[in-house]
Amino acid sequence: MGLEERLPSGIILTTLEQVAGWTRRTSFWPLTMGLACCAIEMISYGGPRADAGRWGQEVFRASPRQADLMIVAGRVSQKMAPLVRRLYDQMPSPKWVIAMGACSSSGGIFNNYAVVQGVDHVVPVDMYLPGCPPRPDQLMDAVFKLKENEVFHAPIGADDVANRVAVEAAKLAATPLIELNPVTGDDARAVTHV
Ligand code: SF4
Repeated sequence: MGLEERLPSGIILTTLEQVAGWTRRTSFWPLTMGLACCAIEMISYGGPRADAGRWGQEVFRASPRQADLMIVAGRVSQKMAPLVRRLYDQMPSPKWVIAMGACSSSGGIFNNYAVVQGVDHVVPVDMYLPGCPPRPDQLMDAVFKLKENEVFHAPIGADDVANRVAVEAAKLAATPLIELNPVTGDDARAVTHV
């Protein structure tokens, strides 16, 4: 017999982590990070048609200090990359990143020296959103998946900071999307040509 069977009915059993996760996932504040054409779809996401405000997702902040979600919408130029990183560093933890569209995920059609070939070279990415551009509905779906898969289960407690540093280091050390074999998902850099 467990403790729950001894408690009177009406007591809600949960963990502090789940309570924190529940509050976090219902109060996303995205940072304004529109860098190119994908930004138009991101703007539509907060507009009356898609109306992300139905789920409290549309409160875009102009200050990184008030934001916990960075939606990188558009290609990241080499010149912009240090600023993206600085804004990410200025966001309070816990924080999450969505790479919206082909350009921010992998450089897209801009395979040249001026564009970073994926924002995952600069900040740790939690979710990649395919498309050129992705529709607002896709962004909505990505935010919901992020909430369910990561935000709700984000650990809290004494080891919180150490955990976050470790997770960020692991994500930055992971193989960038552009280097993955599109068929097998393996690191394409390991392939040797004869
Ligand atoms: S993915 Fe397409 S729509 Fe988005 S920034 Fe790149 S070119 Fe523009």
